[in-house]
Amino acid sequence: MNIHEYQGKEVLKSFGVAIQEGIVADTPENAVKAAQELQKQTGTGWWVIKSQIHAGGRGKGKIKGTEQRGVALAKSLDDVKNISTNILGNVLVTIQTGEAGKKVNKVLVSQDVYYPGESQPKEFYISVLLNRNTGRNIIMYSTEGGMDIEEVAHNTPHLIHKEEIDPKVGLQAFQARKVAFNLGLEGTAHKEMVRFVTALYKAYDSIDAAMFEINPVLKTSDNKIIAVDSKVNLDENALFRHPDLAALRDISEEDATEVEAGEHNLNYVKLDGNVGCMVNGAGLAMATMDIIKLSGGEPANFLDVGGTANAQRVEQAFRIILKDPNVKAILVNIFGGIVRCDRVAQGIVDAYKNMGNIKVPIIVRLQGTNAEEAKSIIDQSGLKVYSAIQLQEAADLVKKVLA
Ligand code: GDP
Ligand code: MN
Repeated sequence: MNIHEYQGKEVLKSFGVAIQEGIVADTPENAVKAAQELQKQTGTGWWVIKSQIHAGGRGKGKIKGTEQRGVALAKSLDDVKNISTNILGNVLVTIQTGEAGKKVNKVLVSQDVYYPGESQPKEFYISVLLNRNTGRNIIMYSTEGGMDIEEVAHNTPHLIHKEEIDPKVGLQAFQARKVAFNLGLEGTAHKEMVRFVTALYKAYDSIDAAMFEINPVLKTSDNKIIAVDSKVNLDENALFRHPDLAALRDISEEDATEVEAGEHNLNYVKLDGNVGCMVNGAGLAMATMDIIKLSGGEPANFLDVGGTANAQRVEQAFRIILKDPNVKAILVNIFGGIVRCDRVAQGIVDAYKNMGNIKVPIIVRLQGTNAEEAKSIIDQSGLKVYSAIQLQEAADLVKKVLA
């Protein structure tokens, strides 16, 4: 689960990670109040207005139809008001959102931390993530912070360093010092970086995070090390241990149909094709999507109805699938082991009749216990439902109805 930058920064701060201070606002008036409050707290006279959406690339992204950037410097309270007015309630398009963009409901009004001084501010990149091959967390870091770490990884991979952490002992002091050293830091800045990395790793470990990406981490001109951005991804399987973090979920950032499916305990992921799929079991769902592709179709979704494919669940699943206007046919592929195929078939017929308004053809493949009985229930229902026992047969039927 992703959380917003402002939420991530609050979490980091609670573990002692130094951050660029900011106050979140949902109207231009509140943004001005936030800026004034921030001036009192930090003495800053310039502010950065940052769009809060679950996607990166905001600094280069633009509000749809305008030249307004998603992250912008404000040098006066008037700037704060104008920039917030340009951003709030509008759609931000970045390299990560795709053309549709994302609506911005909140801005983070932040202190400007790039103030000039004796030395130049310097941007670093630091992330923490799991190396699945070794089963260990790694800290990945680079002197080339800023916006395009993917380009750095592609063009100059030797500038990206990795420090792997032994889960038995956790992050060792020498490892934190190595990070600071490889980032070319000395004196105060070195000490600050050791503190930063140590606190960052502690936070990652304590909240069961799946990924942290702090880009940029800034060395200010007075040698402070602070998180200017925060991308925090939490391990959903561990959220039950962190109700306070689970509460940070922002469903307006998620696909509405996926959220609704989740409420019905249906495992649904929307895709771009035209063949809706209803399957029991994740593995079978993947195989079904493969066979649809091999037969020349494109799956419109992944949907695992789980173990109890009764009429009620089948109906919920039909409703979810049919919310997608691209769906031109539905393939139901259920393996009856503990659930009997004839029960499932009856469930499909009941759901179909109950909904009354299904216009797309449905192809049903039931295999396993009582498959033959199931086929005759479907065939005798008089509905626009085609039955099959072999998967290939079902895929051929899909092709036929789409032709
Ligand atoms: P992203 O583009 O979505 O990754 O958003 P970031 O939070 O990384 O911000 C984008 C860029 O805004 C950063 O790389 C900085 O160059 C710039 N920026 C962020 N904070 C400040 C600030 O306090 N002052 C100035 N001048 N620029 C800032
Ligand atoms: Mn960033």
